[in-house]
Amino acid sequence: MPHDIRNYIDGRFETSGNTFDDINPVDGSLVGRVHVAGQDMVNRAVAAARAALSGPWGRSSGAERAASLHKVADGIEARFDEFVAAEIADTGKPLAQANTLDIPRAISNLRFFAGLAHGRSSELFATDTADGAGAINYTVQKPLGVVAVISPWNLPLLLLTWKLGPALAAGNTVVAKPSEETPGSATLLAEVMHEAGVPPGVFNLVHGFGAGSTGEFLCAHEDVDAITFTGESATGSAIMRAAAANVKALSFELGGKNPAIVFDDADFARALDGTVRSVFSNCGQVCLCSERVYVHESLFDQFVAALKSRAEALRIGWPADAQTEMGPLVSRGHRDKVLGYYALARAEGATVVTGGGVPEFGDRRDNGAWVQPTILTGLPESARCVREEIFGPVCHVAPFATEDQVIAMANDSAYGLAAAIWTEDMARAHRVAQQIEAGIVWVNCWYLRDLRTPFGGVKLSGVGREGGQYSMNFYSEPSNICIKL
Ligand code: NAD
Repeated sequence: MPHDIRNYIDGRFETSGNTFDDINPVDGSLVGRVHVAGQDMVNRAVAAARAALSGPWGRSSGAERAASLHKVADGIEARFDEFVAAEIADTGKPLAQANTLDIPRAISNLRFFAGLAHGRSSELFATDTADGAGAINYTVQKPLGVVAVISPWNLPLLLLTWKLGPALAAGNTVVAKPSEETPGSATLLAEVMHEAGVPPGVFNLVHGFGAGSTGEFLCAHEDVDAITFTGESATGSAIMRAAAANVKALSFELGGKNPAIVFDDADFARALDGTVRSVFSNCGQVCLCSERVYVHESLFDQFVAALKSRAEALRIGWPADAQTEMGPLVSRGHRDKVLGYYALARAEGATVVTGGGVPEFGDRRDNGAWVQPTILTGLPESARCVREEIFGPVCHVAPFATEDQVIAMANDSAYGLAAAIWTEDMARAHRVAQQIEAGIVWVNCWYLRDLRTPFGGVKLSGVGREGGQYSMNFYSEPSNICIKL
């Protein structure tokens, strides 16, 4: 039974009368009706967030905020299956992934940043230089104020809590706008916030689209102090323009066209397993996925053949089936984009090693957003399919001869988010990793995350870093106080 997916403003759930359909990409069925927050609702959400800064939340200690975050994490744990079901209904991702990655990681995000919640911690400097003789300086960490959290659809709750956790830990208040494709788990989170007794206005949720809609209203709002955004690079540019008028603090985690490099000394089986994961996980809809695979020429044919048989063996099916490894794309709209690239690849002269089309089920899944896992070869590095982010279960595999050549190929990209290197030679691993233009380089692994480490990208892949203290630094404002003795 489709239900109403509501906004959460100043501690109350609100409908708007202006709705759109939330569609399940497995079979095109209706999940719910999403109530769009217009300009007035966004204004009220921002005003509520502003007001909450001068309420009990604004005076709270780090320990109190940590307790609130743990309570919210407890609340998600208590309703774990509902969160899993909401995430699956919106994305079609396999149960095995939502159960072990999306929802558990969302819980860990909140608990991890609860551990970093601080009071108004201070650094003290006794100054005895010529121009500051006889003074003490101390630095107070303050929240930024009202933070807009704009999140994408690929890992909905995981990526929302990744930003929400540190924003709240640092004492900010938040207006969150989840993707229009995946509003379900964020709305459950608002219920959990409410049940956990988070004060009204501290967490607000507004639903709607981006340009000309809720997202833009929020980003252009003059009373929003900072925007933290995960999504496409082009959207990042639009948000930057909207934020320019009153110079908001920005943190952007954007797109990627990530290389994986398989050297001739790699452990073949490990490199193959890792590459299968890095290309096809979440139906290729992870910003960190490898879309460009470079394989040493001595292994090329063998590696492509092995990758082909692994891609063809991937179990594509119903999300609830514990055996399922790959679900659909997030929407028919996104499928049109991915299929457009499959067609473009052929037009650009690619060899389609496997896939390139749509699986047929002969049941209601044929109304969904499925595509085949796809491997391409034979394109020049200048081809659009090698340069542009596709965000589907697809990679292009190219041979290389030397270390210098593959470093140049990997770096010849407008993006710079992540890279994976497969080699048993640790000197080479360090040498190559340090030359790759990316925010994150994995050696003999992929998507191994320690929440303390800096996360973000270079070039079109982002602005700033989040993770551990990097997050706390972004979500806090140091204020120095100098006292003449
Ligand atoms: P998207 O940019 O289309 O949308 C992301 C969010 O921005 C949505 O909530 C959307 O409504 C909102 N939005 C769109 N236009 C807006 C505007 N003009 N003003 C304000 N808000 C606006 O991204 P998506 O399609 O949801 O997600 C996929 C993209 O996200 C891919 O490019 C992927 O690489 C990237 N991504 C990056 C990371 C990372 O950490 N670097 C992580 C996940 C996804």
